[in-house]
Formats: sequence, structure tokens, C-alpha cells
Amino acid sequence: MNATDDSTAPKTLYIDGRWVAASDGGTRTVICPADGTTVGTVSEATSADTEKAVAAARRAFDAGEWSSTPAAERGDLLLAVADAVTARKDEFARAEALDTGKRLVEAEGDMDDIISCFRYFGKIADQHPGRLVDAGSPAVISRVVYEPVGVCGLITPWNFPLLQASWKIAPALAAGDTFILKPAELTPHTAVLIMDVLDKLGLPAGVGNLVLGAGAQAGAPLSTHPDVDLVSFTGGLVTGRKIAESAAPTVKKVALELGGKNPNVVFADADFDAAVDNALNAGFLDSGLVCSAGTRLIVQDTVRDRFVDELVRRAEGIVLGGPFDEDAQAGPLISRDHLEKVSDYVRRGIEAGATLRCGGEGGGPGLENGFFYRPTVLDNCTADNPAVIEEGFGPVITVETFSTEAEAVAIANDTDYGLAGAVWTSDRGVANRVSRALRHGTIWINDYHPYLPQAEWGGFKASGIGRELGPTGLEEYREAKHIYENTEPAVTGWFPTK
Ligand code: NAD
Repeated sequence: MNATDDSTAPKTLYIDGRWVAASDGGTRTVICPADGTTVGTVSEATSADTEKAVAAARRAFDAGEWSSTPAAERGDLLLAVADAVTARKDEFARAEALDTGKRLVEAEGDMDDIISCFRYFGKIADQHPGRLVDAGSPAVISRVVYEPVGVCGLITPWNFPLLQASWKIAPALAAGDTFILKPAELTPHTAVLIMDVLDKLGLPAGVGNLVLGAGAQAGAPLSTHPDVDLVSFTGGLVTGRKIAESAAPTVKKVALELGGKNPNVVFADADFDAAVDNALNAGFLDSGLVCSAGTRLIVQDTVRDRFVDELVRRAEGIVLGGPFDEDAQAGPLISRDHLEKVSDYVRRGIEAGATLRCGGEGGGPGLENGFFYRPTVLDNCTADNPAVIEEGFGPVITVETFSTEAEAVAIANDTDYGLAGAVWTSDRGVANRVSRALRHGTIWINDYHPYLPQAEWGGFKASGIGRELGPTGLEEYREAKHIYENTEPAVTGWFPTK
């Protein structure tokens, strides 16, 4: 963060329908993690700026213009957002690739997912308006209606910056809420672009607000402020706990999408080639910077040596590079701090008895200016190894071995987290039994990573509270209200009438 009084400071906070600079003129320089070059300079909000944004969102919600806009029209706006992102996809994808260092092709895939998310919530905005309830009397009309929850604080991480924000913005707008978005400070640019889209589409002032900056300053007021009705957070477990604690005194709704320690269970009868290939995707796609990454390979004993040898052989061949390097298959980590954390996590795993089969080092020649870490396989891991227990959040796969189906399930569920997991087998009976027994929010059978905006996403246990996407993802942003109407008012007879 750079403090400055310069009146030419960038105006990248969007508050009450206007682009403004930080109130103290503060700015932050954003660098590309692939080579350390400067991507741009943005405003760094103070907590006072966030409070202004909350006040704007509160005023806009209480004025009721957006919540009383017919739901179908709110849906139309989301469809228009999808069209606008489609038209500007190259610009959006490049901005995301530069901020995160991820390969352009991955950023383009993220943009497709963002477009699908806005389309999905655009289409369901006027669905599920409520329901009639049988009150047992023809004189009574009992109905449940859904209303917007109010002012929403949306806090998002750096790994899929605009995608995670879209999973929140789209249902919040569909529901008729107002919001303040606080994206990760390292990756702000696509948040600025999406607010530009909303601004140009004529979203009423105060309905959508953007504050950029560090969590402790720009983000914290969103969980403590009494005028915020819901805080929806995606990020790490430690921050998630802090947010839940600081939200408790005001008893606001809290939705948390946290980390994962996701099992990828491979039975000996699985399609070998597809399972090895998908184990690489599970662990190393997006450099493992995916909350649902398949970082725990749990493989049956009769196939494990052959499977792990092949996994290691292919992992060693993965080419690292920057966003626009067409030969690259994986990108960098997000920052030097993060690189140090991943290195330390691998070091502790080895100290605790894991065998380093490949990786365990930086990107090598030509990549020294970026924060690269080679795809890493830690073999012979035991359940008490910190690399098996902790979310490393990098391109690191740990290997554990099982012999029976019951053992596979026990190992896969032996984690505080519960976000996602996969089972690989050609036996559909095994696949279905194991998929039901795993205590994780998404299970893939003979696949890894696909998700659908129509289907709920979220975690069991320490992976979170609530669900995003699907009809439940809209419900998070609404309150249910029961309206009981007696069409034949009558004296109850409980108390004397004279
Ligand atoms: P993080 O928890 O460090 O930060 C996430 C966001 O919270 C950032 O915007 C940050 O500025 C903000 N923040 C930090 N402290 C805050 C505070 N006190 N009050 C309010 N906001 C605060 O997470 P990260 O390092 O950016 O992201 C990586 C983590 O996110 C991983 O654990 C990953 O598994 C998780 N993640 C989960 C999902 C999911 O769907 N479950 C998706 C993506 C990432």
C-alpha cells in the first residue's frame, strides 16, 4: 500500500454509483506473479471508505428501488451482464491472467464460467417466488414468500477472483439485495471491470459497491457493521473463523466457502490412463490453487506402485510459464509469501516422513522473477503427516494407500474439511456406495473438477457454511417470510369479550 495525497490518485472504488479514490489517497501497486512486472495501480480503501459503501448500500436497499424491481427485470439485467462479459471476454481474461499469473487459456475458461453463472441466475431470478401452505381451513390463505436479505458484504479470494465474486454478485442481484464487494487485494482488476459493466447497464446508485484493499481495513467492517445483513465469504479457514466470530455480535447471516483437503480415491479396477491423467488435473490444474483440488491421492495397494510411478513421470514433464506462454501448462503461485508457505509446507511434510518423488523446488531457469513451484508428489504419507492434514494450497499431491473399500472411505473422511472428492472405479456399485459415504459437498465419479451452475457448491465440516450456485445459492440471499391471512376474521373466545 502506498499512501499519497496526490489528487490524481486512481479512482477505482465504486461507491454510491460513483468512481472515487480512497479517502486518504492510498493506492496499491498490483504485480503479475509470473514475472513481477507492474500490472497497475488501484485505490486502497480505508475502513472509512468501506463504511461509506455500507451506508450507500443501506440507503439504496431501504429506498427499495432494486428490491421492488420485478424479479424478471432483475434477471434481464443479469443476462445483459452475461452478454457484456461475452463481448469483452478478451479484456476480462487478460486482466485476470495478469493479476493471477494464470495461463490465459485458464482465465478464458473462468470467463466462460462467469458468463454461465450470470445466465443461470438471470434465468431463475423470477422462479421459486414462494409457495402456498395448506393451513387446514378454507378461510385461511397461508403463503411463504421470499424477500431479499438486505445489504450483503461479499468477500472473495485471489485464485478465481471474478468467478468467486460472480457466484455472489449474481444471486445477490437476482434476489433484490444490495452489496459491497471486497475482492482479494492482490487481484482487483476484474472486480473493477465487472462494476464498470454494472454501471454502464444502469444499476441504480448504491445497489452495487466496490471497495479494494487489505482484509483487516477494507474487509473487516463488512462482518462487524450492524447495517450489513449478510456476509458471504470465500477464502481460508483462519479468516473464515475470524469473520464468523466478528459477525456474531450483530447476528447477521454468515455464509462461508472455505478450504478443502480433498480425497481422490483410486480403486485398482479404474481406467488407468484416465485416472492418472485426472489425478494430475486434480492436483496441478491452476497450479493446485483450487479449493477443491484433489491434493490427497488415496490409491489401492495392488495398483499403487505403477500408478504413482506414472503420475510422477507425467508430473515431471509439466511445463511452467507465464500467462501468455503458449507452451506452459501451469502458472505461478500468487506471491512470494505464498511461495514460502508452500515450500515450508512441503519441507514439514518431508520431515514428518513423506518421500519427495518430484518437485519440491521453484520453477527453475528463466522463471526466477515469478513465484513458481514445481508440481510435487509426496509419497508414503501417513494420516498424521501435516502435509495430509493441512491445506497446502499449492501444486502438491500427497499419496496414501488403502486395501479395502471401508478403509478407502475411512481415510478419505479422515479430515476436518469436507469440500470435494472423487472416486475412480469401473464398479458402479462401489462408486455409488463410496460417493454416498464420503462426507464432502461435491463428489465426482470417474472425473475431477467439473461443476455446474445449476448444482449446489459448498462444504461439509470446516469447509464452510451454506451453499453457492443452484437454487440454494439463490436462497442464501433471500429470507423466507410466512404470511398467514384469515379471510374470515372471528372472535377467538380465549379471553372474555366483555
Ligand atoms: P484469505 O482468507 O486470506 O482471503 C480471502 C479474502 O478475505 C481476501 O479478500 C482478504 O482480503 C479477505 N480478508 C482477510 N482478512 C479479513 C478480515 N479480517 N475481514 C474481512 N476480510 C478479510 O484467502 P486467500 O488466501 O485469498 O484464498 C485462498 C483460500 O480460499 C484457500 O483456503 C482456498 O481453499 C479458499 N477458497 C475456497 C473456495 C470455495 O469455494 N470453498 C474457493 C476459492 C478459494
